[in-house]
Amino acid sequence: MDLIERARLFSGEQNPKECTCRHQLAGTGVFYQSVGLIQCATCKGWQLIRKPIDV
Ligand SMILES: [Zn+2]
Repeated sequence: MDLIERARLFSGEQNPKECTCRHQLAGTGVFYQSVGLIQCATCKGWQLIRKPIDV
């Protein structure tokens, strides 16, 4: 399952946007660890969590 499909299922958005911002730290978005997704606080797009985040 790719990012957009995963984000669509999770969020219910029709056309979720892919985020290309850098998310190294908590506070740059909302981290949904259970589904491995970040919703970006800047562009409201979605991005996969690639590695555990230090909070
Ligand atoms: Zn973004």
